[in-house]
Amino acid sequence: MSEQKKDISQLGEFGLIDLITKDIKLKNETSVFGVGDDAAVLDYKNKKTILTTDILTEGVHFDLMYNPLKHLGYKAVVVSLSDVYAMNANPQQIVVSIAVSAKFTAEMIEELYEGIKLACEFYKVDLVGGDTTSSLSGLIISIAALGYADEEKITYRNGAQENDLICVSGDLGGAFMGLQLLEREKKVFTESKGGQPDLTGFEYVLERQLKPEARYDIVDELNEKGIQPTSMIDISDGLSSELLHLTTNSNKGCKVHLDKIPVSQELKEAADEFQLEPTTIALNGGEDYELLFTVSLSDFDKVKDWDKVSVIGHITSESDGKHLVTPDGSLVELSSMGWDGLKSEELT
Ligand code: ADP
Ligand code: MG
Repeated sequence: MSEQKKDISQLGEFGLIDLITKDIKLKNETSVFGVGDDAAVLDYKNKKTILTTDILTEGVHFDLMYNPLKHLGYKAVVVSLSDVYAMNANPQQIVVSIAVSAKFTAEMIEELYEGIKLACEFYKVDLVGGDTTSSLSGLIISIAALGYADEEKITYRNGAQENDLICVSGDLGGAFMGLQLLEREKKVFTESKGGQPDLTGFEYVLERQLKPEARYDIVDELNEKGIQPTSMIDISDGLSSELLHLTTNSNKGCKVHLDKIPVSQELKEAADEFQLEPTTIALNGGEDYELLFTVSLSDFDKVKDWDKVSVIGHITSESDGKHLVTPDGSLVELSSMGWDGLKSEELT
């Protein structure tokens, strides 16, 4: 550690809290009081309150070899906000709790908070509190997000109806592909004792992994288009897994067309290098933070030309089962590998 780096133990818990919270200004009317007392005070008037929390652990959810701290802070906020958007709601506040081991300097925590604060600016949410403690190994970040929605707008996982259209935003699989590239280059880097990783040409999938965005724009546009989704979930574990959640919670089946699942050209090219099928990655790769939702068939005209959204199939009765339809029309039972499964079974 160089001399000008501030050691966290010298700074102390309160010094660190002061460092990361001193410049916070509240933006939202719903935030009455933020950092600086025993608890924050909020005012949601006549709206329903939405609350969610997520935890990220070093070595399990991220690797500081290739996750820059600023990006990590940004991503941690995105992961939590994505769950609020998936309820068709508006996030307003977050609280951030961190456990930090001795290897971290105050500058490193400030860098993490730069990312957290950048996400707060971009998504217009207030950081209204948190907790700070030590950890014996590595970094743990837990972010709770709060938001609001009108009762009739809240969209649960269990509302899908027979014949509803299954829609997905953006494109899928990029974040998983980005992770594979980072893991591969990390291996090259450690085995060749400092050989420079070559990641040119893969900027898009790397960004999908390192700096994902939550789809606030989809929630806004659903509202503008006058679409009330019947069910919605964010895609954190992979399309297959989320389709199973949504249909199981709704007591329904589904038919999803493989050739309609959106994948980017960049994903196709990277997948080719790894000799993987882009659609398999799109179905099973995690961390895309896109939205999967169902709309009534009568809303078809409102979604069919929406460039940010693909209609990938429809909801069936539970007894029809949950199926993928191949381009030649045959049915394959939907199953979930999950992205951990994909990692260990398909890539060695
Ligand atoms: P308490 O002892 O009541 O838990 P703390 O000393 O932990 O209070 O926190 C003081 C204030 O600083 C509180 O408003 C708390 O929400 C805020 N705070 C503490 N840690 C963090 C953090 N990591 N990020 C943001 N705010 C924090
Ligand atoms: Mg505390």
